[in-house]
Amino acid sequence: MARDFAASEIKPKAEAWDRESEFPRDAIRKAHDLGLLTVKIPEEFGGFGMGSFEEVLICEEFGWGDPGFATACGSTMLASYPVITGGTHDQKQRYLSKVADGCIASYCVTEPGAGSDVQSITTQAVRDGDDYVINGSKMWITGAGHADWFFVLAYTDPSAGYKGMSGFIVDADSPGIALGKKEENMGQRCSDTRSVDFVDVRVPAENLIGEKEDDGWMNAMRAFDLSRPTIAAHAVGNARGAMEESLQYANERETFGQPIYRHQGVSFMIADMATKVEAARLLTWQAAKKADTGERNTLEAAHAKRFAADMAMEVTTDAVQVFGGYGYSEEYPVARRMRGAKVVQIFEGSSQIQRLIISREMLRD
Ligand SMILES: Cc1cc2nc3c(=O)[nH]c(=O)nc-3n(C[C@H](O)[C@H](O)[C@H](O)COP(=O)(O)OP(=O)(O)OC[C@H]3O[C@@H](n4cnc5c(N)ncnc54)[C@H](O)[C@@H]3O)c2cc1C
Repeated sequence: MARDFAASEIKPKAEAWDRESEFPRDAIRKAHDLGLLTVKIPEEFGGFGMGSFEEVLICEEFGWGDPGFATACGSTMLASYPVITGGTHDQKQRYLSKVADGCIASYCVTEPGAGSDVQSITTQAVRDGDDYVINGSKMWITGAGHADWFFVLAYTDPSAGYKGMSGFIVDADSPGIALGKKEENMGQRCSDTRSVDFVDVRVPAENLIGEKEDDGWMNAMRAFDLSRPTIAAHAVGNARGAMEESLQYANERETFGQPIYRHQGVSFMIADMATKVEAARLLTWQAAKKADTGERNTLEAAHAKRFAADMAMEVTTDAVQVFGGYGYSEEYPVARRMRGAKVVQIFEGSSQIQRLIISREMLRD
């Protein structure tokens, strides 16, 4: 179903969404109506209660259709994971049910001065009676212009380092929230990315995620263990699309009296694309399968995300090469795929940060 959806509702529209920087609201709603966006929401809150494995199968197809679409609809689950893993029953009832009904949510961790180094965030939440009061600025927030609620990471005890962080669910219409303009990004231009400022935003204490303060860091990081396999899958799908488009073009385009596929320099490039896609998919499935056992999958998720992101950058760049001058033009999809591949090496922990995680995990018992 996801593959059919990508072929009919994403791929044919992706070029226009990118050109116009248009948020694919209607297509996201259709994907939701088909049940493709809520497979991991537990059944009791209106979702399908499936696992990460089913989720990555769907995300690969979204990335194949268009990497920008995959990101545009991915923010909601990224914001939902901390609620799924750490939220109270009441929070799940109130906010996961909204997601099951089709709302969009955003994950607000990064700040203008703190991306890779999450502990450098300065947003604070101070208890005041039955509320917390949040002040701070978040940056690069996917989906923020369309979100109904935000997951916000803030310090409740700045003196305690990462152990003093808490996660909050914040309704997007709360007084004191100001959205920045939509960023003009290099690629994935249909996805909405902007800053979100919080000035004296009052949040009821029952929206502190979990039963107590200071679980925010663990919750935010556990969310990445669940989201990174989906990002890896989206990169696999994007690379698979570039490989298929290269194969077709190489069979049609002729130089020196034969299709360029007959030149080994080209066919070997496409053979390498195929191997890389297969390898990245297997790492992705491994990370998702481990998540579904309930075991800690930090290492597998980092392997998958790092390898798939770098692989998609290589494969889409080679696809532009196969297309020659036409690859450099927006007339063919490979240029958009290459621009769209780049950000996957940056967000949700850059490729350097994944290597940091992998090297640290290798020293764990
Ligand atoms: C389109 C887009 C969408 C995004 N969506 C979201 C979102 O929804 N929510 C959210 O919270 N954030 C989001 N982000 C933010 C994203 O997660 C950060 O941009 C990313 O974590 C990198 O942080 P930074 O931009 O501050 O770069 P920096 O942390 O300043 O890093 C700059 C460079 O230095 C490298 N580097 C940093 N530290 C190290 C180190 N210790 N060792 C080796 N290299 C290092 C990095 O890999 C990078 O290449 C988004 C970003 C983009 C571009």
